[in-house]
Amino acid sequence: MFKNFKSVSKCVYGVGCFKDLGKILEDKRKENNQFMVFLVDDYFLGKPLIEQLPLEEGDMIEYIYAGGEEPKTSQIDELRDRILATKGLPAGLIGIGGGSLMDIAKATALMLTNEGSSVQYQGLNLIKKEGVYHVGIPTISGTGAEVSMTAVLTGPTKKLGLKCDWTVFDQIILDPSLIASVPRNDWFYTGMDTYIHCIESMTGHLKNTFSEAYGYKSLDLCREVYLNDGCGQTAINDEKLMVASYFGGLSLTYSEVGVCHALSYGMSYVFGTRHCFANCIIFNQLEDYYPEGVKEFKEMVRKNDIFIPQNISKDWTNAQIEKMIDICWALTHMWKHALGEDWEQKLTRQQIKDLYLRM
Ligand code: NAD
Ligand code: ZN
Repeated sequence: MFKNFKSVSKCVYGVGCFKDLGKILEDKRKENNQFMVFLVDDYFLGKPLIEQLPLEEGDMIEYIYAGGEEPKTSQIDELRDRILATKGLPAGLIGIGGGSLMDIAKATALMLTNEGSSVQYQGLNLIKKEGVYHVGIPTISGTGAEVSMTAVLTGPTKKLGLKCDWTVFDQIILDPSLIASVPRNDWFYTGMDTYIHCIESMTGHLKNTFSEAYGYKSLDLCREVYLNDGCGQTAINDEKLMVASYFGGLSLTYSEVGVCHALSYGMSYVFGTRHCFANCIIFNQLEDYYPEGVKEFKEMVRKNDIFIPQNISKDWTNAQIEKMIDICWALTHMWKHALGEDWEQKLTRQQIKDLYLRM
């Protein structure tokens, strides 16, 4: 069957559009127990953005730390239980932050109406009921989590998303001024996630014109942000990067990611390495699979004077490497896209091990 995806229902874009949030929420406030839950990256504690939140009496605000481990199933279950125990079912939920907060917001909105642990819903179309109305407001760009139909969570046995039509945000607010404060390294690592999404989606068996159209435009915007004259962390480039992230997300949605993401999931699972950082460490060594993309990536690294760690595998145990290979090998959809239906004839565990040992 062909890919048949639900897109974000509503999207507002433009510098300063965050101020429309109150108006956007107005009609939705009448549903369920008539309060909103704001999940906000704790970077914003004490920052002006908090004053601009359209909080009303009864609303809940939760500050969430996103600088450590990636979102976990246990974290979502605990948050859901706390919201329901405190005030019952909210009218809606608003996530403000990076890919971590986007995923936490999407997953919590679903788990508020679905019983049991989020662990049992890791996978495709396992969610039983529509979640509550949910809004995504990205404050760092690159993952495409604002547009994707998955909420990636690390559980006891796997790192896998809650993926279904209901995961997709009902509304997103793309205000480029919100990403101005992103630290330089995160700006690069997270932005490169969209670059890698496009290179991978456009190099493989599932590539198609629909996916490529988004991919080409996203890559052009990435070059303007990270490579061409005028590149760097500027207000105009923030406008471009926010759109690049959205288009990169759509490019991969209608195709698939490949070798870098398969290896990256293994690394994140075993070492807790953050997704975008892990991708940069791995992509840096994937000339064999993506020669042009890796060459351009290295130019971007040099141009922006960014540090990408190398020689880290010397500290890994054999057991850790074997576990990474297990996780990586199980991502059959990525391997089928990258290498073809007969990927198991073309790839061995030893080859994956050799790739990891290059890191
Ligand atoms: P993040 O949410 O992990 O945040 C990275 C850091 O930037 C944090 O320390 C955060 O506090 C800080 N930050 C965020 N906005 C800021 C701002 N405006 N100013 C200053 N600091 C700011 O960032 P990310 O890289 O966007 O997300 C990574 C997560 O996204 C991973 O958990 C990964 O699994 C997930 N992901 C999801 C999808 C999807 O489709 N659902 C796709 C790719 C990655
Ligand atoms: Zn990614």
